[in-house]
Amino acid sequence: MIYDCIVIGGGPAGLSSAIYLRRALKSVLLIEKGVFGGQITTSPKVENYPGFKEISGLELGTKMYEQSKELGVETMYGEVSKITKNEDLFQVFVGDKQYQSKVVIYATGASPRKLGVLNEEKLVGSGISYCATCDGAFFKGKTVCVVGGGNTAVDDALYLSNVAQKVYVIHRRDTFRGEPVKVAILKEKENVSCIMNATVKEVIGDSQVKQIVLNVKGKEQTLDVDGIFVAIGQVPNTTILEDFVPLNDNGYIKTNLQLETSVAGFYAAGDVREKQVRQLTTATNDGTIASVMAIEYLNTLKD
Ligand code: NAP
Repeated sequence: MIYDCIVIGGGPAGLSSAIYLRRALKSVLLIEKGVFGGQITTSPKVENYPGFKEISGLELGTKMYEQSKELGVETMYGEVSKITKNEDLFQVFVGDKQYQSKVVIYATGASPRKLGVLNEEKLVGSGISYCATCDGAFFKGKTVCVVGGGNTAVDDALYLSNVAQKVYVIHRRDTFRGEPVKVAILKEKENVSCIMNATVKEVIGDSQVKQIVLNVKGKEQTLDVDGIFVAIGQVPNTTILEDFVPLNDNGYIKTNLQLETSVAGFYAAGDVREKQVRQLTTATNDGTIASVMAIEYLNTLKD
């Protein structure tokens, strides 16, 4: 079978694309390697998606997924290892299988950035986590730290302050990047201490995290912690594209305003593309633009 479109990535950008394509009666295969709904499914509370004053990320992501299924989007789990284009058709490789389509919308999002310090890799799942809402419950009554100063770090620290006994927030600058309203709430929390101008030097622990060693304004400081939540941004999931489409210096896909790349029929949408604002609403916005442009392109192709 040759699909009209293969959408890679089942987060809000990919799901929005798939919904628009199906409503234009195009055949769609949507491939996801983790959870349909994407990153947002780990947010306990979403309060900035119009139409929903408050909804959990999991519920919102699930609703988007169900909507796509009801419209007839074909979905599958799998990790895409390679994409090629031959004779106006794309070949998308998943394991030992190959799927073909006339267009591809690439919406794989981004993954958590790693600290890159000693013992980090070894202790992932043994005290180091990149998802407070997924793993926070394991640290009930314990001492944890959150590294980062953006909205994710602030959200994580707020969430953990209701679970853990003590939360340290470690940020490399003297001001937070996260929304001032949320930062103000965080600063009011009695069990939260913010350590500013601090970078992580090392994590100590054999089979479990025991301590974190910081460099605070040039001085070393060691904290006893049971858990470390890393929230220092994202890196785009584009390694398989390196020889296929142009990426910027940080690995994000370059697109024009129509979300086209330099490869005809290959679109990028959501957090994976080069842009300024990465939000749920801008992901669905991207999914809409990419799919509408893809539909126009498909309609110009001869059968
Ligand atoms: P982010 O906004 O890029 O923030 C990353 C934070 O990590 C920054 O404070 C940065 O420090 C710090 N950092 C980066 N690399 C580091 C390193 N190697 N070592 C130590 N610290 C490092 O990422 P994010 O918080 O994941 O948010 C991503 C996007 O999603 C943002 O647009 C954010 O607004 C959005 N978001 C929104 C919500 C919400 O509205 N509820 C929730 C979560 C995320 P500097 O500040 O010094 O650069």
